[in-house]
Amino acid sequence: MITRFAPSPTGPLHLGHAFSALTAHDRARAAGGTFLLRIEDTDRERSKPEWEELIFEDLHWLGLDWPEPVLRQSDHLDDYHAVIDALAARGLVYPCSCSRADIRAALSAPQEGAPPVGPDGIVYPGTCRGRPMSSRQEGDALRLDIARAVAETGPLQFTETGPIHPGQHQADPEELVQGTGDVILARRVSGEVAYHLAVTLDDARQGVTEVTRGEDLFSATPVQRLLQELLRLPRPDYHHHRLIRDERGRRLAKRDDARALSLYRSEGVTPEEIRRMVGL
Ligand code: GLU
Repeated sequence: MITRFAPSPTGPLHLGHAFSALTAHDRARAAGGTFLLRIEDTDRERSKPEWEELIFEDLHWLGLDWPEPVLRQSDHLDDYHAVIDALAARGLVYPCSCSRADIRAALSAPQEGAPPVGPDGIVYPGTCRGRPMSSRQEGDALRLDIARAVAETGPLQFTETGPIHPGQHQADPEELVQGTGDVILARRVSGEVAYHLAVTLDDARQGVTEVTRGEDLFSATPVQRLLQELLRLPRPDYHHHRLIRDERGRRLAKRDDARALSLYRSEGVTPEEIRRMVGL
């Protein structure tokens, strides 16, 4: 059993991260397995070495350990782009010049109901779908043509071991097309590789057998299963855990610096108290 905690070094870790890391670590220990730390720093603008440093400090302070060296996604950019090229050669990728404003404008045409919202926000309306790769301009994003991709793959099953949706699941291809849409593989302007592809490749590269993460990413699982099938990667199990919320019921985000682990640490709170605070 191999599981992981995969933070992005874009701010201080908070209680929600502590819960996620401790859950993954405890599950690995209980199973006699391995807990991995992975640094997901594909967003070059927001990722900072000082945040990465703080992740190591906070997690060590919590009493966690992991094999070194850790995988840092920015060290593997060529691998991700090679996979995008291979998907493009199969006709599954197209260039897209739409800005957020273009997407909003395309969706503001009179239509029934609100536009569907998927794991990456508003579902892309498909304006650039069908553009050949040869028309790619500097600064275009690259998107996965989801309808073509689901036509190439079989059933997208997965096993959920978490407490919220335990059991066997099967992603619905139609729901992927309508409710997730053509996700970004490489971002507009910067060309940076996007989350779904990097996370899927690295879970496979590292032999992860159980993806432990927050419930907010449950809806990202079908598209990641799709990428696994397209790329013939092994299928891990999934363990989505509850989210830690503030007193108003909102889930914690990086802006909640007041709940930064480093702050608790400097105030003399102990790792045992952190465990209790998150209900472990
Ligand atoms: N890097 C992602 C985050 O910071 C987590 C990815 C995952 O666990 O699948 O939210």
